[in-house]
Amino acid sequence: MPRLCSGDYLSGSFCLTEAGAGSDPASMRTRAERSGDGWCLNGTKQWITSAEFAGIYVVWAVTDPEAPKGKGISCFLIEAGSDGIQVGPAEQKMGQRGSATNEVHFDNVRVPGSALLGRLNDGYRIAVSELAGGRIGIGSLALGIGLAAMDYATRYTTERQQFGHPIADFQGLQWMIADRATELEAARLLLMSAADRKEKGQSFTREASMAKLFASEKANQACYTALQLLGGYGYMQEYPLERLTRDVRITTLYEGTSEVQRIVIAREILKEYRQA
Ligand SMILES: Cc1cc2nc3c(=O)[nH]c(=O)nc-3n(C[C@H](O)[C@H](O)[C@H](O)COP(=O)(O)OP(=O)(O)OC[C@H]3O[C@@H](n4cnc5c(N)ncnc54)[C@H](O)[C@@H]3O)c2cc1C
Repeated sequence: MPRLCSGDYLSGSFCLTEAGAGSDPASMRTRAERSGDGWCLNGTKQWITSAEFAGIYVVWAVTDPEAPKGKGISCFLIEAGSDGIQVGPAEQKMGQRGSATNEVHFDNVRVPGSALLGRLNDGYRIAVSELAGGRIGIGSLALGIGLAAMDYATRYTTERQQFGHPIADFQGLQWMIADRATELEAARLLLMSAADRKEKGQSFTREASMAKLFASEKANQACYTALQLLGGYGYMQEYPLERLTRDVRITTLYEGTSEVQRIVIAREILKEYRQA
């Protein structure tokens, strides 16, 4: 932590996803096997944010292949530059090109026993709880992009003249502005509520998924609307909507897709009813 906070490590990376294990990370194939007092890791993680800049990786690997699904996975802290780690070139993405996304390959990477983070075979629980917190972050990222898009577009409608009027005078556009503003405000409140519960140490899994689902879907809609408000100018790279619309697209996909958020929300709700 001190080396991350001081900037000595430019970033850390969260290495969970694999080519065959996305929404279902418990089906991962990366293995960690005992090697003397430590562990030896083999496998490949895919689409890892900031991997080429990371000083340290948090890596999930199967430590007990015989255990029931999700019960034999452990979490390791591994320093970049360790022998056997190879980081692939940055992926060519639709958006968020300011952030690198790489494959990370582990080929007989030997780490000491102290590299185990938390308890043995308890790694999946750590991943799931960390993802819940991350969802508040990704929802907030989405909200920021949606607000920026609507802010730009709304100002534009007061300046752009057609039919002898600023286009903001047309009620059809006013309703688009009103609907998106209302949805983004609701997204903000859901995010604040989830963050408040987390800060108070209360359960927040359901609330974080609701906030991420709603904020990311509504922010995508906001960017789409904002681009529409700019007409053809919105489609031009000279204006910011083209980039914002590409950047926001990922927010319904990573840190769990919208479908996965619905699975989590329904599971959390039904748990209460089934217990009652
Ligand atoms: C730019 C980028 C950065 C990323 N950064 C990281 C990172 O730093 N670390 C990391 O570990 N991962 C990272 N990921 C991976 C990301 O979390 C996964 O892409 C995401 O979890 C979805 O997995 P998938 O892409 O394999 O889709 P899949 O799981 O193959 O899903 C395909 C489609 O099927 C749907 N689906 C799947 N299962 C169900 C179901 N049971 N019910 C209904 N629908 C379902 C999904 O919602 C989706 O629409 C990143 C991905 C991208 C694109």
